[in-house]
Amino acid sequence: MKPLLKIENISKKYPNSKKYALFNFDLDIFPSEIIAIVGKSGSGKSTFLRCVNGLTEASNGNIYFKQRNTKSMSSKEYRKYRTNIGFIFQNYNLQDRISVLDNVLTGLLGQRNPLMTTFGLWSKQDKEKAKSILFEMGLSQHVQKRADQLSGGEKQRVSIARALIQDPKIILADEPVASLDPPTAKKILDDLKTKCKKRKIAVVINLHDIEMALKYSDRIIGLRNGEKVWDSPSSEATKESFKQIYQKT
Ligand code: ADP
Ligand code: MG
Repeated sequence: MKPLLKIENISKKYPNSKKYALFNFDLDIFPSEIIAIVGKSGSGKSTFLRCVNGLTEASNGNIYFKQRNTKSMSSKEYRKYRTNIGFIFQNYNLQDRISVLDNVLTGLLGQRNPLMTTFGLWSKQDKEKAKSILFEMGLSQHVQKRADQLSGGEKQRVSIARALIQDPKIILADEPVASLDPPTAKKILDDLKTKCKKRKIAVVINLHDIEMALKYSDRIIGLRNGEKVWDSPSSEATKESFKQIYQKT
């Protein structure tokens, strides 16, 4: 099977920084696969996700989406590529003052006419789709509420709904449950996993909790100082393996 996304030897050095935040990193991502990236704070986890979705540009290396090098895409093609990627942030990144429904609809911004969406003119079909995903995420009673009226767990569910409405091929989640209490975190990861497996969406999730990485991922990648130091199926990882990832350098 060919990878959905092929990351080839990417490195990233931020301007004004002497060291690489990410160095010679390779990864093939297949549909439906759930990959956990673990590593100490500062090991390069966020940098990697940001390189994949274009929030920052890798200094070297290539990223292929369905065998097509993202570097050779026109800006229109690159925008299209980005609609295939959903992003989930630790702090939810919702617009507090608009409704839950409108927040979910913003997931479609890259795919709809900007003139219409600026005025909140979403089609009936889009609104129905947003409502049905909110129903699936257990948020039916919150559809019309303002986003800032929700709990942290509910906010993260809205942000998952906003990613799902894109019909992405891949979801990148950067420490999505780090601000939530453990029971809520577990429920959210359970849901994220179920909804993505059902839709065959690949998920790359930065997690610092080892138990959660073992429980929710198919594969674990360990990063240390920007370099890959571990790559194995989660079933083969043990707590001992994590010592290698987290050991002092
Ligand atoms: P993680 O998500 O694993 O905590 P990051 O990817 O945020 O790690 O950071 C990796 C390294 O890159 C760290 O040394 C961090 O200080 C540095 N870094 C991250 N973002 C920037 C930035 N915008 N400018 C300069 N250095 C950065
Ligand atoms: Mg980070």
